[in-house]
Amino acid sequence: MQPIRQRVLYLAIGLLSLLIVFNAVTSYRHTRELQEAANWVGHTHEVLAALQQLISTIKGAEANQRGFLITGDPEYLEPYKNALADYEKTLGRFEALTSDNSHQQERIRRLKELIEGRLETLAQNIAIRKEQGFDAVKAAVASGRGTQAMANVQALANEMEQHENELLKQRKQDDWETYRSNILSDLIVAMIGLCGLILFAWLLRVHLAAQEESNALIHEQRELLQATLSSIGDAVIATDAAGNVTFLNEVAQALTGWSQDDAIRKPLSDVFHIVNEETRQDVESPALRALREDKIVGLANHTVVISKVGPEWPIDDSAAPIRTLDGKLSGAILVFREITERRRHEDELRESLDALREANQHKDELMSELKDTDRRKDEFLATLAHELRNPLSPISNALQVWPLVENDPEELNRLRSMMERQIRQLIRLIDDLMDVSRISRGRIQLQKQRVDLRTVISEAIESVQPLIDASSHRLTVALPTEQVIIDGDVARLTQVFGNILHNAAKYAGRNGVIWITADRVNGQVAVSIRDNGPGIPKHMLGHIFEMFRQVDEGSQRSFGGLGIGLSLVKQLVELHGGTVEARSEGPGSGSEFIVTLPAAANGQLESITRHTLQQVTSLPRHRILVVDDVGASAKTLAMMLNGIGQDVATANDGQSAIARVLESKPDVVFLDIAMPGMDGYEVARRLRAHEELKGLVLVALTGYGQEEDRKKAVEAGFDHHMVKPTSMEALRQLLATAAISDEPGSD
Ligand code: ADP
Repeated sequence: MQPIRQRVLYLAIGLLSLLIVFNAVTSYRHTRELQEAANWVGHTHEVLAALQQLISTIKGAEANQRGFLITGDPEYLEPYKNALADYEKTLGRFEALTSDNSHQQERIRRLKELIEGRLETLAQNIAIRKEQGFDAVKAAVASGRGTQAMANVQALANEMEQHENELLKQRKQDDWETYRSNILSDLIVAMIGLCGLILFAWLLRVHLAAQEESNALIHEQRELLQATLSSIGDAVIATDAAGNVTFLNEVAQALTGWSQDDAIRKPLSDVFHIVNEETRQDVESPALRALREDKIVGLANHTVVISKVGPEWPIDDSAAPIRTLDGKLSGAILVFREITERRRHEDELRESLDALREANQHKDELMSELKDTDRRKDEFLATLAHELRNPLSPISNALQVWPLVENDPEELNRLRSMMERQIRQLIRLIDDLMDVSRISRGRIQLQKQRVDLRTVISEAIESVQPLIDASSHRLTVALPTEQVIIDGDVARLTQVFGNILHNAAKYAGRNGVIWITADRVNGQVAVSIRDNGPGIPKHMLGHIFEMFRQVDEGSQRSFGGLGIGLSLVKQLVELHGGTVEARSEGPGSGSEFIVTLPAAANGQLESITRHTLQQVTSLPRHRILVVDDVGASAKTLAMMLNGIGQDVATANDGQSAIARVLESKPDVVFLDIAMPGMDGYEVARRLRAHEELKGLVLVALTGYGQEEDRKKAVEAGFDHHMVKPTSMEALRQLLATAAISDEPGSD
């Protein structure tokens, strides 16, 4: 918009200038014309004057000649001669003045002839007077020739004068017309000039108004820019083309430590001092590069701006060149911001990402561990099935051959002890499984007491002795002669050493050697169980304590086992605050397990509980009701109780059991828990609701041996809790220790 308006203005100025020049040229031309016309009028006047002078000169010569003729006085001849001399000059001038007029030249020629004729007459008359006297001359003059000649001259002069007067008139007329036309054309030019001037003034006004509007807009925009730059969160510094500061906003002032007044016109590198964060080398301002390279420039990473007053800030910035409308470089603008917070966020983000990556890695590890565990669990289930079948198969076989050897007491005895062994094996497996489950759920509680470790080891040896004997191993035991007191759960520690010893006996094959030693070291007790068996590959030493982990995995296994024994050992030892470690020099070089337990601070033995069954020689005969929905179970338990001299009846469901109890008032009821219709808990609750049955002993008999099962049983009103399968010894001990009153229904 603006350039177009400007162009129109320039065009108007150009036209106006042309008009002025045209006006000046026209005026000049008109002046020249007027001057020329005036010159011609003057020229005519001059010609007329010259004509008059010529005639009067002739007339003067004639008058003086006449004076001489009359008087004869020679004094008259002097002016006569002067007049003749003037005549020559005047004629020459007259000729020159009329040289441009051929008509007048012709007349001058004729006039000259007439004048010269007359002058000749005058000269003749003077000669006559001089020579012949007055009368002769009087006669000559009286002829009248002279008067006629002079009249002719006068007539021609009049004709010439008339001609000149006509010319004068004509020229005056021309002069007037020139003047008039000049006035008219000057008027027109002046009018055009005035219009042009008015148009120019109007255009100038429009242009000035537009200019004013543009200036107001520029001012407004400048104000807006200034306000924007001052209020934005980023720091802004502007420079001129030479790189000197022209503006810096408040944020820039805060970061550089320079005030606007101090910084103005200072070189940018003084105000905006930046260095590399790590090398501390000066870094060139991107604004100077933007000026040099005429392009937008970003800043390298890790740059800090050093404030004039001390502190330094990590920044991120960029600069761009500023150009004028015609594209000329007029300066640069530098925008930068302090990025401490962003850095912190980035660091946090990086840390979070690292943590996430780690968590992911951990998750992957867990997943692979989980997969591994899952695989081992599957293997374990297969192994478990196999391990359960192992003892079941000989039991089943024994039962089948039982009728065949019914009359052979020796054979029967052999079969029974074989079956007992297999059942013990089964119970052991199930106990281990239950323990693993309890420990993994944190449900195991140690019954700690002060105990001599040598006793615990002896009990463990006792429990494994049958296997040691059966495998013909040689067992060497070297224990301290004095007591080795620790705080521990006898049963659990027996289980620990029993498991390790059982493994040694199992893996050492036949005719192996097993060494057991115990030593006190630095307030601790270290028990070593070593064998000369197949040993353990080094890479497996750290893994054999994991659940379900076996060196010999899969169907190729040459030894039985579920792979949970050592896991139990480790967890039980750790529950006692101890450690267990496996050592082996590799396959064929035997294995050694070292259990380290903290020795008791005060080595005094409080009581020693030998975990042997209390020998009960004779039991009182009680009346007992066995309740189990599985007829065979009820029957065999009744037979076992009969075997230890008890009076036993059976019932196969809850309802009939309650009726039976109310009717016969037994001393003890063995009650199965899982029964269809009414379960054992409900039966117990209902029985406990009868006042008259206060002294009745209720024994829960279940496959569920967990702690919460025991709790539930107590809550339902049971006095004892036995896990199936049970043994005659366990039944005997229970009946011996249970507070069974002699009078049913009494306390
Ligand atoms: P298992 O029921 O398989 O014996 P354990 O947890 O008791 O389970 O033992 C884990 C594995 O450690 C065994 O499968 C066996 O490979 C290895 N192991 C344990 N004790 C010995 C030993 N005395 N000699 C050789 N290998 C052993």
